[in-house]
Amino acid sequence: TASHHGWKRVLLKLSGEAFAGGQPLGIDPVVVQHVAEAIKVAVDEGVQVAVVCGGGNMFRGAQLSERGMDRARGDYMGMLSTVVNCLALQDFLERIGVETRVQTAITMAQVAEAYIPRRAVRHLEKGRVVIFGAGLGQPFFSTDTCAAQRALEIGADAVLKGTQVDGVYDADPRKNPDAVRFDHLDYGEVLRRGLKVMDATAISLCMDNGLPIVVFDLMGQGNIVRAVRGEKIGTLVSP
Ligand code: UDP
Repeated sequence: TASHHGWKRVLLKLSGEAFAGGQPLGIDPVVVQHVAEAIKVAVDEGVQVAVVCGGGNMFRGAQLSERGMDRARGDYMGMLSTVVNCLALQDFLERIGVETRVQTAITMAQVAEAYIPRRAVRHLEKGRVVIFGAGLGQPFFSTDTCAAQRALEIGADAVLKGTQVDGVYDADPRKNPDAVRFDHLDYGEVLRRGLKVMDATAISLCMDNGLPIVVFDLMGQGNIVRAVRGEKIGTLVSP
């Protein structure tokens, strides 16, 4: 059934992997342009869009600690790398005439505003895209958990998680051709089956607050706009 949820405010989560496109490291301008243009369409339609950027295209604390680095320091490196992605997205958006603000959980006044939730909401109400960087500002968390937290705090209607696959499957579709995609899941099932939607901290935060999650293929033509409109796409995780 084609459903329109009539979302007024959404939180788009972009992984670092997405920014890198097919590359192992860095930022693929084709991806960022694609995302920026879709966000512009959504904003022009009157939907308020906030974004959380991941940083996995540069550093992840868990990976750095496997190589002997202090975990918390590695996590700070990861958080700083998310800000690089935020600035790239900001640049591509502003170049096509979309007003933006970057807000970071670790203050860096020369490049971004500090994370101030009520101010973020005011920006959104004025039609600006607010891009959240540096995760939650705390080690041992992920940007997925940050996406859930920010969505809740600014009163977003849903978390839209753009990925490289077109939804959530019962097995890895890149390895198993028989993998079956779910249209809809509830949070308990995601946790019980260990499905790769977001980490358990993020899922339980969404579960406790009934916040819907949409997992969809970020690069598919028109997908971001469909997700923002609340049209049926990918996998919906909801109560
Ligand atoms: N990170 C953190 N606290 C946060 C958010 C992120 O410590 O609140 C660190 C963590 O090391 C993480 C890295 O920043 O691995 C990059 O974020 P993430 O792995 O979530 O990015 P993504 O997988 O979305 O690219």
